[in-house]
Amino acid sequence: MAVAPDPAALLAPGDPALEALARGLSRVYPLGSRVTPEGRLEIGGCDAVDLAREFGTPAYVVAVDDLRARARAFRSALAAEHQPGRVVFASKAFPCTAVYRVFAEEGLAVDVASGGELSLALRAGFEPADVVVHGNAKSDAELRAACGAGAGLVVVDALDEIERLGAAVAAADRDGPQRVLVRVTPGVKPNTHDFISTGQLDSKFGLPVDEARVAIERLQALPRIEVAGLHMHIGSQVFELEAFRRAVQELAAVGRFDVYDLGGGLGVAYTAQDLPPPIPEYVGVKLAALRAATDLADATVLLEPGRALVANSTVTLYTVESVKRGVSTYVAVDGGMSDNLRPMLYGAVYEAALANRMQAGGEPCHVAGKHCESSDVIVRDVRLPSPRPGDLLVTPATGAYGHAMANNYNGVPRPPIIFCQDGDARAVVRRETFEDLAARDLD
Ligand code: PLP
Repeated sequence: MAVAPDPAALLAPGDPALEALARGLSRVYPLGSRVTPEGRLEIGGCDAVDLAREFGTPAYVVAVDDLRARARAFRSALAAEHQPGRVVFASKAFPCTAVYRVFAEEGLAVDVASGGELSLALRAGFEPADVVVHGNAKSDAELRAACGAGAGLVVVDALDEIERLGAAVAAADRDGPQRVLVRVTPGVKPNTHDFISTGQLDSKFGLPVDEARVAIERLQALPRIEVAGLHMHIGSQVFELEAFRRAVQELAAVGRFDVYDLGGGLGVAYTAQDLPPPIPEYVGVKLAALRAATDLADATVLLEPGRALVANSTVTLYTVESVKRGVSTYVAVDGGMSDNLRPMLYGAVYEAALANRMQAGGEPCHVAGKHCESSDVIVRDVRLPSPRPGDLLVTPATGAYGHAMANNYNGVPRPPIIFCQDGDARAVVRRETFEDLAARDLD
């Protein structure tokens, strides 16, 4: 089972985190994970079987060092480019207060895509000036909350948002102008699933170049609004650096500004076969494209990684409830589409293993959830060693859009989030209860 670690794929040579992280299983598991001599999975120094005993299953288990290492890898890659800039955590990927806190401590700024994410980010301690507010359908209340809180940047995503933004700025009790970016749709479709592609012209996100120019003019005519720059985000789980290069080139051609927010999108390894580009290479390509197109030695560059910061930090632990051997073997666990919607939404592929017996090989199985849908299969065609009820099953790389998209289908309470570091484990989000399920009932 233990796959040779390849931390060099993630971190720049010479990064002090490399040595400590080299004990990992593969790039799919959190950095620093290992298989114990007893054959059990260990995350952040914590034995997965002990974690399941203490916190129950299903549970999201996060290696805190992994979050920090990736934040540092992005920051050092940007610093190596000698360009003013910030790494902005795209918090939709893992909107959990404790995760926001870690990234605030690591000196990141934050991207929020709703009033709820704005509230979480501020509660977690982000400075309002470090908040970038997104949304293709912002409400008046969200615009007022953003401007009123003193958000550093509001990203304008539609022409008919402009007047409402003007009103929100006028109503806000704040010093200085509201700085804004205009989101440009660069007309570049990256090679990724259609449902997470946003750079093509036929998109609900952003404005094509000619409309972006109109937006800039209209915004410049409004009092107390300053057009600081441009934004783009072409999609997610993208491995193809050429698409980023072309998109940045299109963005830069719109004009010279103080700020260029180049979005997120760097793909991650969900399985050992996935080979995403290293962070420094990804950052280098985006910045080189911008430099090639404009004279921007003093422009501020923002990068907005989401999944590349959090996906591999986390594994989900489940208990096997039943094993049905028929045409296929279905290993059914105590969670499913309520804690990981991605396989059902866009056919996302994960690995699975038995965390209490980390062995390679075994019989071909599908890992099914407990929900009343045939689509509720978390991992297809995986080999597990004689799985049986009571086994502890792990799916790695569930940090991005797992907790974020969790739901209560079939009245299933959402899992806790367990932070592990140096052998200590603590719940930072408790498991939902049946009482929580009825907490909003008025009758
Ligand atoms: N920025 C914006 C505006 C986004 O919409 C997203 C994700 O949808 C991201 C950044 C982060 O993308 P990723 O998680 O692929 O890095």
